[in-house]
Amino acid sequence: MPTNSNFSQNHSLSPIGEIQSPFKEKFGIPRQPGLCDAVIGSIKLSGDSNNEMALKDLTAHSHIWILFLFHENLKQGWKPSVRPPRLGGNEKMGVFATRSPFRPNGIGMSAVKLIGVRQLGKQWFVDVQGLDLLDGTPVVDIKPYIPYSDSIENAHSELAESAPEHSLSVVFSKKANTQIALYQKTYPQLSLLIEQVLQQDPRPSYKQNKTDDKIYGILLYNLNIRWQVTNNQCEVLEIASSD
Ligand code: SAM
Repeated sequence: MPTNSNFSQNHSLSPIGEIQSPFKEKFGIPRQPGLCDAVIGSIKLSGDSNNEMALKDLTAHSHIWILFLFHENLKQGWKPSVRPPRLGGNEKMGVFATRSPFRPNGIGMSAVKLIGVRQLGKQWFVDVQGLDLLDGTPVVDIKPYIPYSDSIENAHSELAESAPEHSLSVVFSKKANTQIALYQKTYPQLSLLIEQVLQQDPRPSYKQNKTDDKIYGILLYNLNIRWQVTNNQCEVLEIASSD
C-alpha cells in the first residue's frame, strides 16, 4: 500500500464537529449527496468551532460544502486503482478519477442544502438536507457553495454524466405500513426516507437485475428495515426497533 512518507511537510487536521445522520452503517447510504432529499441530518460543532461567531452569515447561502473524513475506511488504506460500483464493479479506474471513499488522505466532500443553524443550550448545529454520510463522520471544514464558481456550465463527465436512474420501485407490506405508523411521530419523513434509499438499490452490483431471494437489512436511526427484491420491485417486509 502506498504511504505518504515522502511528503516534506505533514499537517494534522482537527475535526470541527461530527455528522448526525440516519445512517448507522455504510450499507444503504446514497453514493452521492443530493440523491435522497428525505435524508435530513446535522453537523454538531465541537471545540473552538462550536461558536456562534464562526457560523455568523452562513445562512446567507442556500447550500454548503462539507469536507469530512471517511473515518470508517482510514485503517484499510487505499489503492491507486479502484472498481467503481457505478461501472458494475468490473472496471478498474485511477482513484483520482473517482469519488472512491478509499483515498490517500481519506478526505470527502459533499455539497448539501443548508436548512439552517440551530442552538440547543451551548451546543450549535448546522442542519442540512441530502446527506450521503455515516452518523459520526468527522467534519473538518464547512464552506459556502458559490454558484458562479462551483457550478460550471459546460462541465461534463464521460463516466458519470447524470444521476443514476432509480432502479427499483418500492412497496410496503401491510405489516411494514402498520409499523411505520408507530414511528411516524418520531420520524415524520420515515416512509419517504426508506423509499428514496431503497430506490437507489443498495445491493452489490453483481446482484442487480438477477434473481435474488435474500432478505436484506438496513439500519436507519435505530430501526432495522428488512426488505427483499423480486422482479426489480423492492418490498419492505418489516420495520423493527434495533434497541
Ligand atoms: N460525495 C462524497 C465524495 O465524493 O467525497 C462521497 C462519495 S462516496 C462514493 C459515498 C459513500 O461513502 C457512501 O455511499 C458511503 O458508503 C460511504 N461513506 C459515507 N460516510 C462514510 C464514512 N464516514 N466513512 C467511510 N465511508 C463513508
